Amino acid sequence: MKLKHDAPTTCALCGRDDRSRPALDGVLRRCADCGFVWTAEPGPPPDELYDEAYYLTDGYQDYFASSRQRRFEAGRRLRWLSSITRPSVLVEAGCAGGYFLEAARNAGYTATGIEVSHAATTYATQHLGVPVRHGYFEHIAPTLHADIVCAFHVLEHVDNPRTFLHAARHTLTPGGWLALEVPNIASAAATRLGHHWPAVAPRYHRWHFTPDTLRRMLRETGFEVVAHDTVFSRFYWRPLARIRHARGLLVADLAASRSPRIRHPHLGDLLRVLARRGPAGVTG
Ligand SMILES: [Zn+2]
Repeated sequence: MKLKHDAPTTCALCGRDDRSRPALDGVLRRCADCGFVWTAEPGPPPDELYDEAYYLTDGYQDYFASSRQRRFEAGRRLRWLSSITRPSVLVEAGCAGGYFLEAARNAGYTATGIEVSHAATTYATQHLGVPVRHGYFEHIAPTLHADIVCAFHVLEHVDNPRTFLHAARHTLTPGGWLALEVPNIASAAATRLGHHWPAVAPRYHRWHFTPDTLRRMLRETGFEVVAHDTVFSRFYWRPLARIRHARGLLVADLAASRSPRIRHPHLGDLLRVLARRGPAGVTG
């Protein structure tokens, strides 16, 4: 079953028609009422898009060969999550090759993935031996129960972010945790680089969040935001890579944020949110 694409002129956050304006020379649209940003002409649906080529060349530079980098990222994300949750039942949406599931399982979580890419599902189950269900999170998640739902770099890809968040809420036990990470269109890098900001990626990224628009969407879909911040890209680079690229990015980040810190309340490249499933009756 295919998920239906929304009409690209309707704002997925405030729902208003005909209030969006072209941004970035028409590559994006921005809602004049609420500030939400989306891609004007999105690519094919996710189950056609995330084939093997995406993981080897188009979206990553050989995802499957860079296991040390993937494990480093997974470890950082798990440390962040573990700062606020205890090992329990976790479902990861868009788990890609399964490295975060592997890290979570090793830390005592009961972790299951849901992944739309057949190539990534096969890799995760056969090479890492982690349990992954192949298909759309929006279809599979409501049949599961979880204390924690994670989605790292997923919400910007999905057909409809509200549908995705409703599915996550349905899956969670009362008070359960949602951990999200998405690119930050309000970051210093996005402002500075414009078209050249890597996360514009119009073929892959349908939705572009700021700290404000993501928190609003979470509130309106029945979540209480507990913690949010942003990190610069180098946060996820292994120390050697960080040194190698220091001149290019570190200097630009320093100039933008006027701080050597790797985290920032709102100017970093990546936006992270920890939210809890709120009480019934507040879903929008
Ligand atoms: Zn709007």
